[in-house]
Amino acid sequence: MVNPDPAARRALPSVDRLLGSSAVVALIARFGRALTTDTIRELLQAQREKLSQNAGAFDFDEARFVAACENELTQQTQPSLRPVFNLSGTVLHTNLGRAQMPQSVADAVMTAMTRPVNLEFDLGGGARGERDTHVEKWITKLAGGDGAVVVNNNAAAVYLALNSLGAKKEVIVSRGELIEIGGAFRIPDIMKRAGVKLVEVGTTNRTHLKDFSDAITPRTAAIMKVHTSNYVVQGFTASAPEVELAALAHEHGIPYIVDLGSGMLVNLEDYGLPHEPTPREALANGADLVTFSGDKLLGGPQAGLLVGKKDLIARIRKNPMKRALRVDKMTLAALDALLRLYTNPDKLREEVTTIRLLTRTRADIRVQAERVLPHVQAALADKAVATIIDTGSQIGSGSLPVDSLPSAGIAIQSVGKSKSSFADKLSRAFRSLPVPVIGHIKDGAFVLDLRCLDHEDEFVAQLPQLHLK
Ligand SMILES: *Cc1c(COP(=O)(O)O)cnc(C)c1O
Repeated sequence: MVNPDPAARRALPSVDRLLGSSAVVALIARFGRALTTDTIRELLQAQREKLSQNAGAFDFDEARFVAACENELTQQTQPSLRPVFNLSGTVLHTNLGRAQMPQSVADAVMTAMTRPVNLEFDLGGGARGERDTHVEKWITKLAGGDGAVVVNNNAAAVYLALNSLGAKKEVIVSRGELIEIGGAFRIPDIMKRAGVKLVEVGTTNRTHLKDFSDAITPRTAAIMKVHTSNYVVQGFTASAPEVELAALAHEHGIPYIVDLGSGMLVNLEDYGLPHEPTPREALANGADLVTFSGDKLLGGPQAGLLVGKKDLIARIRKNPMKRALRVDKMTLAALDALLRLYTNPDKLREEVTTIRLLTRTRADIRVQAERVLPHVQAALADKAVATIIDTGSQIGSGSLPVDSLPSAGIAIQSVGKSKSSFADKLSRAFRSLPVPVIGHIKDGAFVLDLRCLDHEDEFVAQLPQLHLK
């Protein structure tokens, strides 16, 4: 469309002229020439289009234009990955990065990031070393077994175990354990990709030892047990005892593999939490190889840990896919620092963030809720009512799916008749804060579970910026 007022169009400065102005030179110094030039060009184009639609007098305000450029550049260069407040009620929230780590772990990562380290360098002999040795000692000490391998995540650990030990052969799994974990991790699919033929035995609710023994052939490479971490089968159920499954595998000279999913190095019951099977228990029951995650209950970085018999670990380490799935020095530094904390179980509650958050009592969380409530109410003014409620937190990441931890939080509801769209509006407003606050909606109310509220001062300080339209 032709601008009915070409004079107005001419009133826009050229990109070159703007680039010479002192205010823009300052922007270039901050954001770089390329990004600044692109932004100026885009905003000028937007102005031009606006002008072509509205004829009439027009004064180009350079100061306002530069301020708009600065605003746009600031927005664009914000980090994409930002801290948020996880008040969702799920402690290990996969979409919010699962485990938070203690400062001592972060410090170890910082050193590994910013300085050369002996990642694959044997300081004794001066020769090439193996990266997993930095954590192998601690994993085997804490979990049992006599060798360990670390890869990108537990999905990779399961894949690598199957591919290393069962490629072109058969692996037997109970039908009750053919699980799907969020994000397209399905045991049958992983088996296929690992080049393993899945042999399903038993039924959804009941699988017996005989189902396994009947399925063993000369082509069987392993028996695998998958911890059904994100659901429970209740009622008329049966599964073969682990000790018997392990014995059956060993009778036939094949390994018994257990995918624990979460896996925990200490007995959570000692901390007042529901029991979660440990790698040590699985190995004691006869497992030859156990896989588990680094960033679920363990409370560390994203990683998959394989621990078990030395000969199996050696075969896994020789698989070329190990190289494709290996972890970097930051992950190893984090794991090394974290695992050393586990050597002193008396201090775990203080030192491992995940355990501290999981073991917070309702009474403690309520005290915090009472402190925070007036600030939340003030931010809501008379548009909504905030009250303290009892909640139940989920552990998350498929751990202990039916157990909920007694917790407390703040429920926010509209004044008068509650509309479900109001909870959505609240949810959006809290997400739009400088440090976004993630809650959840329950029974028409927007709920903030305070179990994971650290940085309380920062949370309170930004509340006046809550903008409820
Ligand atoms: C979570 C889980 C996985 C996948 O682990 P990631 O670390 O998320 O890759 C595999 N198996 C089980 C049983 C799990 O619970």
